This record gives sequence, structure tokens and C-alpha cells, in this order.
Amino acid sequence: MRRRKLTQAEKLVIVDKGTEVPFTGEYDQFFERGMYVCRRCGAHLYKSERKFDAHCGWPSFDQEIRGAVKKALDPDGARTEITCSRCGAHLGHVFIGERLTKKNVRHCVNSLSMRFIPNSKRVSTKVRRDKHTEVIHDGVIVDADNAEEKY
Ligand SMILES: [Zn+2]
Repeated sequence: MRRRKLTQAEKLVIVDKGTEVPFTGEYDQFFERGMYVCRRCGAHLYKSERKFDAHCGWPSFDQEIRGAVKKALDPDGARTEITCSRCGAHLGHVFIGERLTKKNVRHCVNSLSMRFIPNSKRVSTKVRRDKHTEVIHDGVIVDADNAEEKY
């Protein structure tokens, strides 16, 4: 599994399980069509069709890609943490019973935990990041740090 090197801000959320400041994330008020993938490993997490505006300050989804998200009770038992099933990246928390959508579920996800890939670029996307270019093929990072890895 390829894991992208994280920036300090990404690490605070993805590794240290922090929460980004509400209403500041790049995907909070963002409703383009496409796929949200794990920012660290590129796994597909959520389709844009399942995103809704919960007015809570963070991107909200009422359904994950099947098997993509792991749920576990926080140590204090108060909330249920969600993580990327593939690499364990912290995503946010999931809330049930708020009656915001028909599914009655809200995945409250940090923008910093995800990367959005527009439908038009699903097949192959080049992302310029820091000092290198990543190539993402259908949501999977296939060329980071100029490493040779044909997919
Ligand atoms: Zn991941």
C-alpha cells in the first residue's frame, strides 16, 4: 500500500485524530460531482451523491462506499470514530439518529482526511503537491515522489 507523505496539518487530523476548525475545510461548502478518496492512501471513501449539507461545518455523507470505512467507539464511549479501512487514517465521526437524511446517518468527515477527484478526471489525475507530482489512477495513487509503479 502506498501512503502519501502528509503535511503537518494533515498529520494532526489523519494521525493524531484532531478535528479541523469547522466551516474552514476545503470541502465543507463544496458540491461537485466526483469521488472522495483517502488523502493518505487513495482508497475510495464516499461518492459525491451521498454528500449533503448538514450545516455543521464539516463535509457530511450519509453513506460510505461499501467496506471503505471502519467504525469504532471512542475510548470514552461517547462518539463513534470512522477511519479508512485500508490505511487507518482518521476521518471523523459518525452520528446516527439525527434525521437529517432518509438514511438517518451522518459521516462527519474532515476535509483534510480526503481528496476530491472530479468525475471527469476519475481515470487519471495528476496532482501537483509540494515539490512533486502525484498521479492518481481511478482514486489510487500510482506515482508519488516520482517512484516507478505501473498500474
Ligand atoms: Zn486510507
